[in-house]
Amino acid sequence: MGKLIFLVLAVVVVWWVLKSLSKSRRNGERPPNPAPEDMVRCTHCGVHLPRSESHTVSGKYFCSEEHLRLHR
Ligand SMILES: [Zn+2]
Repeated sequence: MGKLIFLVLAVVVVWWVLKSLSKSRRNGERPPNPAPEDMVRCTHCGVHLPRSESHTVSGKYFCSEEHLRLHR
């Protein structure tokens, strides 16, 4: 009887170790930066900024509305 309990415990421990190993492997596969954003350059002052934060006028990028206005 003691052998059977030991066997069941051993199976549970092995199952638990394999489960935690596969879980940590899945987490490690996730890339640290899933969607790197395009960087654009302000036409007026040359500063680099993400495209979503820039002001775009006829294919030119500006870091702020002020620089957009000054360029006109
Ligand atoms: Zn600028």
